[in-house]
Order: sequence, then structure tokens, then C-alpha cells
Amino acid sequence: MSKSKLGLNTICTHVGEIKDEQFKGSVSPIYLSSSYEFFDIDVKRYPRYFNTPNQEYLSKKVAALEHTESAMIFGSGMAAISTMFLAFLQKGDHLVVQNTLYGGTVNFIKEEFPKYGIEYTFTNSYKVEDFEAAIQKNTKLIHIETPSNPLLTITDIKAVAKLGKSKNILTSIDNTFASSVNQNPIDFGVDMVMHSATKYFGGHSDICAGAVASSAEHIERIWNVGKNLGGSLSDMTVWMLERSMKTLGLRVKAQTKNAMKMAKWLNKHPKVSKVYYPGLKSHPEHKLAKSQMKGFGAMLSFELTDDLDSKRFQEELKLIKSSMSLAGIESTMLSPHLTSHALLSQDERDRVGISDQLIRFSVGIEEVKDLKRDINNALDKI
Ligand SMILES: *Cc1c(COP(=O)(O)O)cnc(C)c1O
Repeated sequence: MSKSKLGLNTICTHVGEIKDEQFKGSVSPIYLSSSYEFFDIDVKRYPRYFNTPNQEYLSKKVAALEHTESAMIFGSGMAAISTMFLAFLQKGDHLVVQNTLYGGTVNFIKEEFPKYGIEYTFTNSYKVEDFEAAIQKNTKLIHIETPSNPLLTITDIKAVAKLGKSKNILTSIDNTFASSVNQNPIDFGVDMVMHSATKYFGGHSDICAGAVASSAEHIERIWNVGKNLGGSLSDMTVWMLERSMKTLGLRVKAQTKNAMKMAKWLNKHPKVSKVYYPGLKSHPEHKLAKSQMKGFGAMLSFELTDDLDSKRFQEELKLIKSSMSLAGIESTMLSPHLTSHALLSQDERDRVGISDQLIRFSVGIEEVKDLKRDINNALDKI
């Protein structure tokens, strides 16, 4: 059966399974060997070559989910993105990146690129004109993130991919926030898709991993750098990730449905002044989001009214946890001004629209009525 014909949950459940020929068990065996025979075999297997049986097979699931020929699984989202960047950028090259980017990616670019002699420009905003304006003669890659963190802006994937193609520049996207369930950027012409698998792929807040999906040709180039940088994942974790990904479709769809309900409810709440969620008709890029996303995702942000202390509010929550990370089946919240954007000055935060009242909400699979009650109880106490 052709893999591309399989539906989401079938891919999640079955693609990339390893058949247990010996005992006929129903799940993939874990192969922990870091040492494999070298003669009379086509593949020289070694964990840092990303080709142990579990690594190789799980990458098939990621490729099927992202509609690509090939994929690689990494030890973290940062291992995935740094290896991808270093595979396509060398001394004298230039990267165009979206201004609203995951903090770790920003740090990697600012702290490491100068050591390699790689140049970069952060766009002024997230519109295609901003990307075009940032392109230089030596630009080799354009990297986007949509929906963005924490204000859930939407970048036009098709327009940026087309811009790249017209100038012979590769394009890549961080697809972590939407996950493959809600967005498949390859269908809109992007060349490479990366994920922090620590988030929705893992989904239970107990795994650190990453992934890149692309054509076989691009993945080979990334592999050539990856084997030198050594950001591979242990097979134990690869196996846990496979187990988690069987329910990726179920989890993320349930979370997405909950997020839509919570966004609508918060939007009408008298103690909430603003909600940022691409699924709301009031979101400035709602139509664009609808055209490139299958669901609007399970991440949203909202602002409490000025008289309320957002930190005290989160301290009063009983069910919803405060957490630096996101995308688990349990709902979590954080204050960007105290965490991801704490190093920016008040002025800089004001400029990008991150107020002290802003709360980022990663919606889980709990019953919506319990989440609403938790929020109302906390708001009543402060
Ligand atoms: C968490 C995250 C990353 C980094 O992934 P790690 O697994 O923490 O290395 C990259 N991009 C986005 C959008 C993330 O949320």
C-alpha cells in the first residue's frame, strides 16, 4: 500500500513499525546495540550515524507525516535545527529569519553564527514583503516559524516558499507549534520542515527529541553534517517517541478542539482583554491560517485586564500547571515576560507586543469545563 494514501492515524499507528520476526510481538522491538557487524551488509549501522533500526524506522513515520521522502530524528529540537542550518550555510552565506522565533533558535544564530562567519538578518515583521526586503546577494536560506510564539502570528507559507524558489533560495520552517497534524508545509512548497519532538510528537512532557523532514537529497546533506555534530538520540528514547507518536493524531486533534473552545470562552470573559488564537475570526490572519492549517493548533495566548496580576493568577491555578515548556497532554501556562522574553527590556517587549498581562496557554486534553472552572476560581481569588 502506498504510504501517501494512508490517513493520519494509520500513519501514526503503523508507519515505521519494526516487525518482530522472532517472537511475533505486536510492537517494535528495541535494538540497543551500538555495535553492528560491518561485512556483507549494505548499511554500516552506528547510533551517531542516525541509522540504528529504531532510528531508521521512526524517521519513516516522520517522513510520512510531513509528506517527504526522508527524515532524521535528533536528540533535541535544537540539534535538529542547528544541524539543518549548518548543513546549508557556510562561511560567507546569509540567512533570513523571521523576527519572532523560538528563543533557543535566536540564541543559536546570535551566539554561534559569528564563529562560523555566517551572516543573518532578522525580518522586521512576518509578512512576505519583510522576507523579501531582508534578502541579500549571499542569502542561501529563509527560515520561518508559524504560528509564532507567543503571539500566534501567521506567516504565509506558500508566499515565502514561492519567494525562495524565485530567487533560488531554500526555505525551512519550524513546524513545532502546529505539528504535522495541523500543518504540512511541504504541500505549500517549503523545502525543509523541522520539529522539536519534545513538544507534540512526544506529547507527554517526558522526552527531549527533534526531527527534520525533507527530500532524500537534502536529508543526505543534513546527515553528512549530523554525523560530525553527533546530535543523535538514544534508541530507548526513540522507542518511547514511537510509542508516543501512535496517539499524535488523537492527542493533537483533541487538544486543538479544546483550544478553540477555550479561545472562544476567554474571548468573551470580562476579566480577559485580548485573546490571540488563529482560529478566532477576529485574528488578523484568520483567513490565511484557514488556508494553510488543517486545524488552528492547541496554543493560544491571552491578556488579563490591567487590574489583575498575571503571576498571582497562575499561582492560584490548581489544575493548569505553570510550565516553561508546552504541548503535553496536560494544560500549562506561562508568562512570556518572566520566561522566554525575560531578557528583553520593557521597551523591547512593548515593541513586540508582549505585555506583563500576557499569558501563553498550552491547551491539553482535560475536559473543557474543568479548565474553565480552574481559571474562574483562580480569577476569583486575585
Ligand atoms: C522547544 C522548541 C524548540 C527547541 O526544541 P528542544 O527540543 O527544546 O531543543 C524549537 N522550536 C520551537 C518552536 C520550540 O517550541
